[in-house]
Amino acid sequence: AEITKMKKQLEDKDKELNLVKVEVTGLRKAANDNTTAQAKLKDLAKQKEALEKEKSMMALELSNLKDENKRLRRDYLKEQNLRRKYHNEVEDLKGAIRVFSRCRPISSSETERGNVGVATFSDEFTISLTQDDTKKTYEFDKAFSPTATQEEVFADTKRLVQSAVDGYNVCIFAYGQTGSGKTYTMMGPPDSMGLTPRVCKEVFRLSRRDKSKLKFKVKFYMCELYKNDLIDLLVSSDDDLMNSDKLVIKKDTRGVVRVEGASERLCNSADDLMAAIESGSTRRQTASTLMNSESSRSHLVM
Ligand code: ADP
Ligand code: MG
Repeated sequence: AEITKMKKQLEDKDKELNLVKVEVTGLRKAANDNTTAQAKLKDLAKQKEALEKEKSMMALELSNLKDENKRLRRDYLKEQNLRRKYHNEVEDLKGAIRVFSRCRPISSSETERGNVGVATFSDEFTISLTQDDTKKTYEFDKAFSPTATQEEVFADTKRLVQSAVDGYNVCIFAYGQTGSGKTYTMMGPPDSMGLTPRVCKEVFRLSRRDKSKLKFKVKFYMCELYKNDLIDLLVSSDDDLMNSDKLVIKKDTRGVVRVEGASERLCNSADDLMAAIESGSTRRQTASTLMNSESSRSHLVM
């Protein structure tokens, strides 16, 4: 009985020992886990440090880029001013007033009447007229022959639109007897556009190109000078055409000549501007009928 009792006690101790063993295994595992967690923590700390380093490097880079951007902007403005200066100096060198001549082709009715061309062009500046064995030669800043295209005539004018955008006063005017080709050159037929529609497009091309730097506002007026009277061609109805208040020509402080009291139209596109010109041209027809005016005494100003 004593032996059985001792065996039982021994078994109990064994069980207890097993329990302790299990506990020790558990503790060992926990200790192991703790080490892993600490290693992970160390790793994370290292990563954090690396990220912080990267962040401060990026901040430095950003501030460098900001400085660079400032410098580029300053340089850009300087270059922009130089470009403006040189562009307009070149235009000035060509002369503040430039006179071009354009000779139109002989018309079919002129040919029918037995007329022949007498003009020859030895270079792009010279026009010679030969009649009855006498030759007279004239020099211009440019002499356009009958084969010159509308595009060629526009080529130099185009640069003047840039000058206008740069703040210079620009005026283009056509002079010549009736039938010599003023309207053809200034307006042109739809299939061979003249200066005006091309200039309208150029004005808005430049305004689109420079829209991030400049604010553009295009205002347009159009009148007819007939003898001593100025007639507003953008009035809202034909009735106002002949009764419009007297328009006065004024020069502002910048030397820009303006017609005071003329109806002005704000134009937001080349199409807007062309539409205003079309409506003014229609009124011009009406006005010339109402006044019974001769076209040789009538001058269009826009
Ligand atoms: P103006 O306005 O000076 O009175 P126009 O422009 O009406 O003269 O021209 C007279 C005629 O000659 C028109 O029929 C026009 O189409 C024609 N014409 C003028 N210039 C040219 C040219 N460069 N090429 C072809 N035809 C032209
Ligand atoms: Mg005409």
